[in-house]
Amino acid sequence: MTSKDTTGDAGNFVRELIVADQAAGKRKVATRFPPEPNGYLHIGHAKAICVDFGLAQEFGGTCNLRFDDTNPTTEDVEYVDAIQEDIRWLGFNWSNLHYASDYFEQLYQLAVKLIKKGKAYVDSLSEEEIREYRGDFYKKGKPSPYRERSVDENLDLFARMRKGEFPEGAHVLRAKIDLETQNMNMRDPLLYRIRYAPHHRTGKTWCIYPMYDYAHPLSDAIEEITYSICTLEFESHRPLYDWAIRETEVFPSRQIEFARLNLTYTVMSKRLLLQMVNKGLVSGWDDPRMPTLAGMRRRGFTPEAIRAFCERIGVAKTDSMIDVGLLEHGLREDLNRRCPRVMAVLHPLKVVIDNFPEEVRHLDAPLHPEDPAHGSRKVPFSRVLYVDRDDFREDPPKDWFRLAPEREVRLRYACLIRCTEVIKDAKGAVVELHCTWDPASWGGSAPDGRKVLGTLHWVSAAHAVPAEVRLYDRLFAVENPGTTEGKSFLEEMNPHSVEVIPSAQMEPYLAEDGAVEKAGGRFQFERVGYFCVDRDSTPAKRVWNRTVGLKPAAKAAPIAAPAAPPAEIGIDDLGRIDLRVGIVREAANVPEAQKLIRLMVDLGEGRLRQIFTGLRAYYPDPAVLVGQRVVVVANLKPRQMKFGLSEGMVLAGGAEGAAHKIVTFADAEDAPKPGDKIT
Ligand code: ATP
Ligand code: MG
Repeated sequence: MTSKDTTGDAGNFVRELIVADQAAGKRKVATRFPPEPNGYLHIGHAKAICVDFGLAQEFGGTCNLRFDDTNPTTEDVEYVDAIQEDIRWLGFNWSNLHYASDYFEQLYQLAVKLIKKGKAYVDSLSEEEIREYRGDFYKKGKPSPYRERSVDENLDLFARMRKGEFPEGAHVLRAKIDLETQNMNMRDPLLYRIRYAPHHRTGKTWCIYPMYDYAHPLSDAIEEITYSICTLEFESHRPLYDWAIRETEVFPSRQIEFARLNLTYTVMSKRLLLQMVNKGLVSGWDDPRMPTLAGMRRRGFTPEAIRAFCERIGVAKTDSMIDVGLLEHGLREDLNRRCPRVMAVLHPLKVVIDNFPEEVRHLDAPLHPEDPAHGSRKVPFSRVLYVDRDDFREDPPKDWFRLAPEREVRLRYACLIRCTEVIKDAKGAVVELHCTWDPASWGGSAPDGRKVLGTLHWVSAAHAVPAEVRLYDRLFAVENPGTTEGKSFLEEMNPHSVEVIPSAQMEPYLAEDGAVEKAGGRFQFERVGYFCVDRDSTPAKRVWNRTVGLKPAAKAAPIAAPAAPPAEIGIDDLGRIDLRVGIVREAANVPEAQKLIRLMVDLGEGRLRQIFTGLRAYYPDPAVLVGQRVVVVANLKPRQMKFGLSEGMVLAGGAEGAAHKIVTFADAEDAPKPGDKIT
């Protein structure tokens, strides 16, 4: 089950469980974080890291970092190094560093023990035959003809598998459990297979490799892990986890599963992230748009913001979808506290103050409005400045408080100016503004008390420092990438996820020795957003990444607003829309979605149609809709949604932004019947 969570004040059931254990005087807390080194860590891993390391810290226990490197074909040392760097950056330290590959000999000996107990056998069917023999959900498995091999034969074959006497696929070692159980994981799962692939740590020592489901519980046991915390998809593997521990008679580690993190507008699987890297759709694993910790670090996220987010979303037993806005919100809170403010003009437009003398004045401006500890800096002011192009409109709307012909604005920390002349090039583009200033307004307000609402940021042209600015947006254009039928997640990428501004103008403070370093490379550009220095910076030119804007991106209205009335249409056009009367037979909230109600509507067709409507906010109890006669657009192309097919649309009305009600007919003797046409 999935539900979208935007509030995010959740508990942590694993913590509660440990508290209860401790109260009962049980068990030290020993956890581990077990990444497979086949990609970079992402924000989902951050959640697991905060759970594993965080709980160990909280209860005075230990947390190991263990690389689950049992699959030599997908693993790489680059990832091993990157993973360690990312965990340290997040603020955690492992008690011990281990590799599952360090246990290969022990795991082998435990497998021999299983064979001796009659709990494992060498199977010589091909992998395809094994799959066939194993059956499926509807069909019981049947035993392999090799299942009853003698212990001695099994021991001999297994030893020779290890020596490299057989080609890949000739034999496997399988657990002897139960071929008829419903849990497929328990139908004599594979424990070992032959692979002639060199391993990044053990080289060519081994040509048989243990399967994850076997290596993982026993590695936990070897390290005496008390709480082996993993994600929900391993729930159905737990019986095998427990079996392996019981039958090899090792330390009784306990597996606990929690819901993995899913974020809107984000894909998280390493497999998918690797595709984007390999196809060059991003600049690498640390592209600032990537949900990897390396990417987020480069984007300007702080470890504190990520840890606070992980705490806020909690740890639960059911899958949920977290609004990426929640992550951004916490980031803003954190950056607001820590970032000094400076002025930077992204799209410079030259402003000449005609009546300002040929001199330079130096203003003293605080670096942080709420925290004087940041100190202040000097900002030069002169006759020629840059303001942002977006802060000028030649033909402004009514509620425009920024620059426009004959309008007066405040320049931050400086004075009031009025625009007197607009200079354009041959093509009619505005290239320069001329203004006059009010000398009595130095400091920002006029002695006569006249109201000036707009305040603009600016930089002095002669003193400005050019820089490159990279504006990032979400990497995906849709809320749930990869869930649209018939579409690859790659087709759902946001084509405007990065905009590069090669020549923005910064205030000279940013070029002062040590200024950027003192701020940890992070600033708020006033009125623009939070930015950090990118590693592509050169001594000649800095590169700034936008970490996040000052405000959340405007959200799509929950209900399509009747924006402008459409152009007139003819009566024939109306005929193309087939409006019918329907009776609602069932109505229920879609638990996985925040806004949707699922209706089953009778249109007199001898079956019910499933229709989703986004009006949940206005129907706290959707049951009131049952029995209502509604208006259905009956010939709308059915739409495949994540939760099923939506076969039509139910008409509703209401003022923009206000409550919407579904249009209904009063119940009466002569009320229209299901399927009746509406004309
Ligand atoms: P992916 O599917 O992204 O490749 P994975 O589960 O294969 O991830 P591992 O390296 O095996 O990645 O994971 C290490 C640990 O991180 C595991 O315990 C796993 O359960 C956890 N983990 C992975 N993804 C998430 C997530 N989205 N939310 C929470 N924990 C996660
Ligand atoms: Mg994995």
